[in-house]
Amino acid sequence: MISKTSSDKLDLLCIGEAMAELRDGAAAGLTGDFKVGFAGDTYNTAVYCKRQMGDSGKVGYFTRVGQDPLSVEFVVRVKEEGIDPSYITTDKQQLIGIYSVVTDKDGERSFSYWRHSSAARQLFSHDEAIRSLPPARIYYLSGITLAILDPAARRRVMDHLAEVTKTTDTLVAFDSNYRPKLWESKAVAKEVMDEMWEIADIGFPSIDDELLLYGDTNEEALLDRFAKFNWKAFALKRGARGPVSLSLSGDELPVFPPAPKVLDTTAAGDSFNGGYFAAYLQGEDEATCLLRGHEVASRVITQPGAIVSGE
Ligand code: ADP
Repeated sequence: MISKTSSDKLDLLCIGEAMAELRDGAAAGLTGDFKVGFAGDTYNTAVYCKRQMGDSGKVGYFTRVGQDPLSVEFVVRVKEEGIDPSYITTDKQQLIGIYSVVTDKDGERSFSYWRHSSAARQLFSHDEAIRSLPPARIYYLSGITLAILDPAARRRVMDHLAEVTKTTDTLVAFDSNYRPKLWESKAVAKEVMDEMWEIADIGFPSIDDELLLYGDTNEEALLDRFAKFNWKAFALKRGARGPVSLSLSGDELPVFPPAPKVLDTTAAGDSFNGGYFAAYLQGEDEATCLLRGHEVASRVITQPGAIVSGE
C-alpha cells in the first residue's frame, strides 16, 4: 500500500496507444452505421481509473497522435474524461490508428485494424520522449505498448523504467496483454515480458495471456512463476472466476460475484486494472483493491464497447 499525498505529481500515467474505434451500430449483422469512439488497453485503464477517482485523482495519458480529425477528436475526448492531455505529442506525418468492430448474428465480434504506421508507433523513437515522462506515483504500460515499438525504442523504454524503479519512488505497473500478431515472434515477446515482470512493481497478468505465452502446466505453476518477483501489488485476472493475489489465501479473498449478464468482454482486464489502481492510490487494502477492480470490470462487460457510459 502507498500513502496518499497532495502534490502536483500525477497519480497515474498510462503509456501506450489509443485508436479510433469504429463500431457498427447494429447488435447483429453489418449495417454500415458506424459510431466513432476511442479505445486502447492503456487508455481504457486511464479512463476507468479517473472515473473511479474523480477529483481526488490526477491521471495522465502519454501517447502520440496525428493532426487528422480523429486525432484532434481523441484529445477532446481525453479532456472530457478529466485525463491530463499535456503528455500527448503530435506527429506531423502519421495518423492515429483505427480499428473497426463488427458483431455477427451469433454475437461473434470481428476486429480489423489500421495501425501499422500509426503515430503511436513513433512514441519513443527519440530520446527526448523518455526524458519527457512526467513524475507520477505509478507509470503503467502493457505488452501492447512495447509490441508496437521498434526494438531500439523498446530497449530505451525498458532501460529507463528499470532505472526509474531503482532510483525514484515511482512504481512501474505492467499488464502483458499478449497479442501474438503484434510481435515479431513468440520468443521475442517472451524475452520482453520476462524482463518486464522483473522490472515491474505492480503486476496485472491475465490467465489466458500467460498460458498462451508461457504454457504453464496449471494455475499453481503460473503463480509460482510470479511468486519469485518482488511485488508491491499483484493480481492474476481469471475471467468470471475473479482475481487471485499472491499474498491473500483463499479464505482471505473477498467473494467475487459473477456479472448479472455478459454482453461484451472488451476491456474487462483494462477496467479491472483501472478500478484496482483507483483503490490502491486511495490507500485501500489489497482485498478492497481486488474487489474494486472486479466490480468495475463486471459492470463494464454488461455494456457494448471498451469505454462504456456511466461507469
Ligand atoms: P482480460 O480481459 O485481460 O482477458 P479477464 O477476462 O480475466 O481479463 O477479466 C478481467 C477481470 O474482469 C476478471 O478478473 C474479473 O474480475 C472480471 N470479469 C471478467 N469476466 C467476468 C464475469 N463474467 N463476471 C464478473 N466479472 C468478470
